[in-house]
Amino acid sequence: MNERELVVVGGGPAGMAAVLAARASGVTDILLLERDQYLGGILNQCVHPGFGLVHFGEVLTGPEYADRFIRSVCESPEVEVSTGSFVAELKPGKILTYLKPGEIQTVKARALIMATGCRERTREMIQIPGTRPAGVFSAGLAQKMINIEGLLPGTKVVIVGSGDIGLIMARRFMLEGARVEAVVEIQRHPTGLLRNVVQCLDDFGIPLYLGHRVCRIHGRDRVEGVDMVPVDEVGREMVESRFSLACDTVLVSVGLIPENELIEMAGVEMNRQTNTPISSDLNYTSIPGLFVCGNAFRVYDIVDSVTRDSALAGRQAAAYLSAGGGALGNV
Ligand SMILES: Cc1cc2nc3c(=O)[nH]c(=O)nc-3n(C[C@H](O)[C@H](O)[C@H](O)COP(=O)(O)OP(=O)(O)OC[C@H]3O[C@@H](n4cnc5c(N)ncnc54)[C@H](O)[C@@H]3O)c2cc1C
Repeated sequence: MNERELVVVGGGPAGMAAVLAARASGVTDILLLERDQYLGGILNQCVHPGFGLVHFGEVLTGPEYADRFIRSVCESPEVEVSTGSFVAELKPGKILTYLKPGEIQTVKARALIMATGCRERTREMIQIPGTRPAGVFSAGLAQKMINIEGLLPGTKVVIVGSGDIGLIMARRFMLEGARVEAVVEIQRHPTGLLRNVVQCLDDFGIPLYLGHRVCRIHGRDRVEGVDMVPVDEVGREMVESRFSLACDTVLVSVGLIPENELIEMAGVEMNRQTNTPISSDLNYTSIPGLFVCGNAFRVYDIVDSVTRDSALAGRQAAAYLSAGGGALGNV
């Protein structure tokens, strides 16, 4: 079986920062596996500015931020980058199986860093009743459709959730000529940054309904509207104040779930509530030499913090290797 000193899974900002820090700490045999065709992770679809203020002291877009790391990773002879490589299995002993077009590969890692990011919570997870028409999207999917595929998912939009991703998508839809009828937040305060509330909603005159929830989606083939209702301090619906809004699209932006099914498969002790590893310290798991970093370890607000903490994972893996960890008979 092919054996590598360090394998990193996920070529987003976390994986790339970990790779570069491990290399700078003396690791000379690194395999980076990324399921997409390109490195950069979620940053590739984030064309808005707001990245890099801490790390670079500049305001960059997501692709610009990613590009600075991609160049360094790809220029390193110590790093083999394998894109189009989906890791499907992780066995105890840090044995990974990954699929590439036309081939299945197995590799054993002496040290392993998982930087697999997050997936989005869905309509089903927050239980919005109603019909199941076309036109209900997660915010990240809509962002990918607009910014990467050049498709506009709808023209009259209601956004569920006031986190940063929902707010940024509200502005994005308006810039594309669509109308955002409402951003709806069950809590009594917006959950995203104040600057995003001002720049993405207030500047475009988009109504923000705090203390409200979308309680039904209507539509046969395509979304035709939603019902909304105010909720009191303990979350009870004030049904007498229920009202409807016409729309053709509902965007669900209600949080992220760390993507950690692979480490669970390998036997890592998990916190079931957060879907993250139970950990004594940043990036550590219950399996020596298996580290988790970036959004897979915890959901971060800004990418600069992901870069900082994931570079630490690279150094932690290097220290593990230089102490003889993961050598044969010491898995
Ligand atoms: C829609 C959106 C907007 C954002 N806007 C901002 C902003 O304005 N400013 C800011 O600072 N931060 C923003 N963030 C946050 C920031 O982008 C994230 O914190 C950061 O991208 C997390 O990096 P990561 O590498 O952990 O995850 P990701 O960027 O998600 O990368 C994970 C990578 O792992 C790969 N992967 C997953 N599973 C596998 C597998 N089994 N096999 C192989 N590869 C795999 C994925 O394809 C992906 O490339 C935003 C995030 C999102 C989702």
